[in-house]
Amino acid sequence: SNNNLFAALRASFPSDLDAIAIETDNNLFYSWGDIERSTAMMANLLVSLNLPAGARVAVQVEKSVEAMVLYLATLRAGYVFLPLNTAYQSAEIEYFIGNAEPSVVVCTPANFGWVSKIAFNAGTEHVFTLSDDRTGSLLERAAYCSAEHQIAVVQADDLAAILYTSGTTGRSKGAMLSHQNMLSNAQVLKTYWAWQPNDVLIHALPIFHVHGLFVALHGALINGSKMIWLAKFDPKYVVSKLPEATVFMGVPTLYVRLLAEPGLTLDVCRNMRLFLAGSAPLLIETFGEWQGRTGHTILERYGMSETAMLTSNPYVGERRGGTVGFALPGVDLRVQDDAGATLSANEIGNIQVKGPNIFQGYWRMPEKTKEEFTADGFFRTGDVGKIGLDGYITIVGRSKDLIISGGYNVYPAEIEGYINDMPGVAESALVGVPHPDFGEVGVAVVIAKPGQQLDSAGIVALLKSQLANFKIPKHCVVLDALPRNTMGKVQKNVLREQYKGLFS
Ligand code: ATP
Ligand code: MG
Repeated sequence: SNNNLFAALRASFPSDLDAIAIETDNNLFYSWGDIERSTAMMANLLVSLNLPAGARVAVQVEKSVEAMVLYLATLRAGYVFLPLNTAYQSAEIEYFIGNAEPSVVVCTPANFGWVSKIAFNAGTEHVFTLSDDRTGSLLERAAYCSAEHQIAVVQADDLAAILYTSGTTGRSKGAMLSHQNMLSNAQVLKTYWAWQPNDVLIHALPIFHVHGLFVALHGALINGSKMIWLAKFDPKYVVSKLPEATVFMGVPTLYVRLLAEPGLTLDVCRNMRLFLAGSAPLLIETFGEWQGRTGHTILERYGMSETAMLTSNPYVGERRGGTVGFALPGVDLRVQDDAGATLSANEIGNIQVKGPNIFQGYWRMPEKTKEEFTADGFFRTGDVGKIGLDGYITIVGRSKDLIISGGYNVYPAEIEGYINDMPGVAESALVGVPHPDFGEVGVAVVIAKPGQQLDSAGIVALLKSQLANFKIPKHCVVLDALPRNTMGKVQKNVLREQYKGLFS
């Protein structure tokens, strides 16, 4: 049998290949037959290049259906897809291309000059262009290829993709994911989130990241579901399409932006079945506000580039805000202390996981890979959290963001929760900075709700009445916005850097 992920996705296409698979925000319609033929043609183009086994196809292009076709064609032909964030500039692209040594690079026509130079210097043989308006050399070449293609036979552990992590805590690492890693996860989620025959997904996320590329795309394809495709997130457009859709996936900032739309009402959500959130913590305020406005309870889940999805709130049963639910079927999840002892319920420690979805290691980083696995084969996620008595898992932060102040552990999420509850506060971030007496102390960065004034001394005073002294930030600043990367993740490293000299 064939373990190619694409074979499983293809087998899930509806029998009526003329049905609409994708409708785009610029009024293009793609049938399932179009997806079948275009992936076959592009796969044939890749095959015609006589690439070595395991060749990487690195892609930095704007989001488009054709970019998705390139992903599927790479799987189909048995090569390794390597998507790159569209925000990356020359220094970053030089690192990724130098590190991954792709045989094929696909970039935008606008970037061809400098990207092709970097690629050819790194030994890449083929550089194509792909624009988001269906032009570029990749499509020109594929147009000459046959629309018949036999899906390449691969082994379960063969690599399907290298996904560079978001770089939230440092330099991005290439997570090597196999066909089986991704297929097992897609199958589990199809059942866990109860995908329905008539589901329609609004796809509004970038496709260079695990959320949009795997969770959203595989979710729709393995269920044969239609997608409403947005090249870029546009809250007004999403609201206008909600009545035609049943499933939406977003990072927390997308939910915040949707809530700012007056058009977001109970009525426009009448046909919706499921709102999913992840990639960063969903504020309990957003969770509550969403329930009030739409009548829907957001289902929060947790995962990462290295593992795809790990935990999820239940589809049926209580979706508890502020938690990421339960370990998914097949995922073994435990919480350990730094000494390697497994902790009991409600004790905070390092989250470790095992399962068919866990990656094959970091690309060309054998030492790092070894460090991140325990002797008994669990992957150290780098996230800190706890498992409640009733099994609900809560993430309290990343181990790199933990603050050790005067020997005590301070978990940023706890203090942020108290600050976020204060009147006039939109959100906050607590970061640790060096301190001569305490080793490290917390600095609170607080953002006001629109039109509200905040007084940092007042925030600290209120915290003092609520929390032990070692948890109280030694400094509090009110800013206009938190620094975020393109996935909406707060860049605490940027804040740490900014305030590191406050006390030393
Ligand atoms: P890097 O590993 O390069 O520092 P990154 O960890 O942000 O970057 P990703 O793989 O995109 O890269 O993100 C995975 C991380 O996102 C998780 O380890 C976790 O910290 C965070 N995350 C994902 N979902 C949630 C969630 N629902 N709640 C809290 N955090 C989440
Ligand atoms: Mg990470």
